[in-house]
Amino acid sequence: MSGVYVVLEDRGGRISRISWEALAAANILAAQSGSKANAIVIGAQTEPLAQESASKAVAKVARIEHPLLAQYTSDGFRAALEQFIRAESPAYLVFPHSYQVRDYGPALAARLGRVLIGDVTAIGAGPVFIRSLMQGRLSGSYSSSGSGPCLVSVQSGAFRADAAETSPAEIATFTPTIDASQIRTKPGEPFRGTAQTVDLGSAQLIVAVGRGIKEADNLPLVQDLASALGAEIAASRPICDNGWLPIERQVGSSGQTVTPKLYLAVGISGAIQHLVGMKGSQCIVAINKDAEAPIFEVADYGIVGDLFEVVPALTEAIKSARQ
Ligand code: FAD
Repeated sequence: MSGVYVVLEDRGGRISRISWEALAAANILAAQSGSKANAIVIGAQTEPLAQESASKAVAKVARIEHPLLAQYTSDGFRAALEQFIRAESPAYLVFPHSYQVRDYGPALAARLGRVLIGDVTAIGAGPVFIRSLMQGRLSGSYSSSGSGPCLVSVQSGAFRADAAETSPAEIATFTPTIDASQIRTKPGEPFRGTAQTVDLGSAQLIVAVGRGIKEADNLPLVQDLASALGAEIAASRPICDNGWLPIERQVGSSGQTVTPKLYLAVGISGAIQHLVGMKGSQCIVAINKDAEAPIFEVADYGIVGDLFEVVPALTEAIKSARQ
């Protein structure tokens, strides 16, 4: 058993963003044994996906290809990956924690007599895999024992997707044996978490507002700041629970996970359920009148002050700097 493989997912003909995050996680794992991760793409015509993958930080790319894999089915993907794993004996398999993986991952692990360590947020030496428990109140460390591959899925936003470009990697094709009678389901429309009018997950600049704003009538204050910056507006849960902003703007364990270049948190305390959704942001700026607020523990820059004074001043400063 050797080598780290990452399973990359097709999203409309391109590799999905969360797959690149999974690649970053796989490379953290591979670096512990001084190597680079290998990528796997699955489908019926995987050449373009394989080419896209081969330009990233991977040692080699395996195309698992079969006409019955043209559309995603749990049975097809599970059968194809099981055959590949039995043939190649990888030590670790890293997956994005996507809807697809939540569907076929546990079945694949069960077929291999292994468990899937799901929704991992960090990888430590050993390796140990860190997961949140009880809605983010506790963290657990897990390691793999026994023989057989270790299967891990990584949480969206937990790892940085900006994997370095590298020289083209070798591509090899693996053809599994799949019979149409093995596929027991017909694919429908891919599931989307919410009917989203905004994809906060790919926003580069976010201004997020919390209960410190006090009432809905005060929201234009932060909306002005967001539009001066050209940022998306997001919120903590109480703001969405109150119906002041739509649910798809909620960040956190029961909302979206975001990794923007800038996350500006206005009047947000930094409860753990909020932090798990934004702590992967590249630069976090917090405005809060309470110097002890937990948000300052993850903030790169903190402004201790009244948001009703700080936000209008900041908006004006941004507007005049942009003139
Ligand atoms: P508060 O915690 O009330 O914080 C308001 C902050 O504003 C305070 O720090 C205060 O000092 C500051 N403030 C007040 N007035 C001013 C002022 N004038 N100027 C500057 N600062 C000011 N929460 C989420 O956000 N996302 C989730 O996905 C989520 N999921 C959850 C799931 C479960 C199962 C549970 C139990 C909870 C969940 N929560 C979630 C709720 C979470 O626990 C917190 O209650 C919530 O994040 C708090 O929101 P907040 O920071 O806006 O409000």
